[in-house]
This record gives sequence, C-alpha cells and structure tokens, in this order.
Amino acid sequence: MSALTKLYEGKAKILYTTDEPDILLADFKDDATAFNAQKRGSIQGKGEINCSISSKLFQQLEANGIKTHYIDNPTPNQMRVRAVKILPIEVVVRNIAAGSLCQQTGLPLGTVLKQPLVEFYYKNDPLGDPLLTRDRLLLLELATPEQVDGITHLALQINNFLINFFKRCDITLVDFKLEFGLDSQQQLLLADEISPDTCRLWDNSAGDDPNRRVLDKDRFRRDLGNIENAYQEVLQRVLKAVEGIGSRE
Ligand code: 5GP
Repeated sequence: MSALTKLYEGKAKILYTTDEPDILLADFKDDATAFNAQKRGSIQGKGEINCSISSKLFQQLEANGIKTHYIDNPTPNQMRVRAVKILPIEVVVRNIAAGSLCQQTGLPLGTVLKQPLVEFYYKNDPLGDPLLTRDRLLLLELATPEQVDGITHLALQINNFLINFFKRCDITLVDFKLEFGLDSQQQLLLADEISPDTCRLWDNSAGDDPNRRVLDKDRFRRDLGNIENAYQEVLQRVLKAVEGIGSRE
C-alpha cells in the first residue's frame, strides 16, 4: 500500500485516502473535546475503544439491514469506510431527557419521553451547531425533503435496534448523535461513529445515582473521573452482548 494521504482531521478522527478511490481509512484519536472544543483533553485508549465499539455496532446494524459506511477494522484504532459526502447535519435521537434538552426546555433530567425525539442540528462550529427546524434545514438546502424523511426513518430504526442492544448490556440508551453521508450513487449511509463519545449511556446496575451511572463522555464534560474505566466497561459489555447474539445464531 502506498503512503496514506491525510484527507481531513476532525476532533476525534483523522481520515486518510487509500489506494481505492471509494475507500477511506478513519484513524480514531484519543483526543477529547467538549463544548464546541472549548474544553480539550485526552482519554487514554479512547481511539481503540471507540473504534472497536463502533465497528461492532456497525456490524450489528448491517446485519439488521441498516446501510452504513463501515467496511472493516484492520487495526484496533482504524476503520476502513466507504467514502461518502457527509451531510452537514447532526441527527440527535433522545429517549430520556438530558443535556441540552433539559437546559433548553426545563424538562427534568431523566424524564422518560413518551416517544423518541428526533432532532436536527446544523454541523457548523462557528455557529455553535444550532438546533434546526425542518424548514430552516430545507431553506439552507442541507438536505432534500426526501433525505430528511429517509434520515428520520433510519434514525428511529437505529434507535430501536440500539435500545434493545444496550438493554442486553444492562445499559440504558438515553440519547445519541448520528451523521449520515451520500455515496457515489447518492445512497444514504450511516457514517461517523457510535460510541460513548456520541451517546449518553447509563449503567442500570448503578441505580439512580446521577454520577455513578454515567458511562459516556459526560464523565469528561462534567469532570466525573474514571473516564477510561467507563469506556472500557462499555466495550466489554458490547463484546459480551455480540458474543451472546452470535451463539444464538
Ligand atoms: P446534547 O444536545 O444534549 O448536548 O447532546 C445530545 C446527544 O448527542 C449526546 O449523546 C451527545 O453526546 C451527542 N452529541 C451532540 N452533539 C455532539 C457533538 O458535536 N459531538 C459528539 N461527540 N456528540 C454530540
């Protein structure tokens, strides 16, 4: 393989081109950022853990009929992915009120939502990733109406799958962020990653303790400590759940 060319460096990953024009290599970093990169740090082993968790979840989603950019996982912190044009939209799905939903609406932390909430945010750091209405999204031509409907449908399907998967891990899926891209055939693919960086995950065995139950990036955001252990715990439970699913087949 010829030397890799860096295509793009984001906050959590570096993307490299490969010898094949439709395939990129994503290198997961240990760097951690929060609050629009105003808080910066590093979580030891995060790159490998997040790459492993994301790979397992993408494989499971593919097995359940959801099309993703995932190809394979050649080294612990690297993922080969299909090249896509990322839509500049962050799709957030919420099952339980937390984070910005509580801050912006006053809903108490932990309120169980009657039905999942699908939200769109403009992926735009200088603007601070603002919440979009459907009309604003269409006004800015960030996606077509058909793509918005397709994304909403996929996001809810992914949510159903992930809720049940994490239940097997004794984890409650509070909320998460997805990104989608279009491949060369304009097909919508789930992209980016699904990991403790992009999900709120609460440990059921920790009861209602609002700090002890946190197994995700909120440990970094809120300086709760034991971040590496929490991420590692999620990985171990994901691996065990996947093993359980495999042995049933
Ligand atoms: P909130 O809007 O409450 O801050 O975030 C909702 C969910 O989406 C959380 O699980 C959070 O981790 C995820 N999320 C929202 N925006 C981002 C982002 O820019 N980066 C990452 N890694 N996750 C995000």
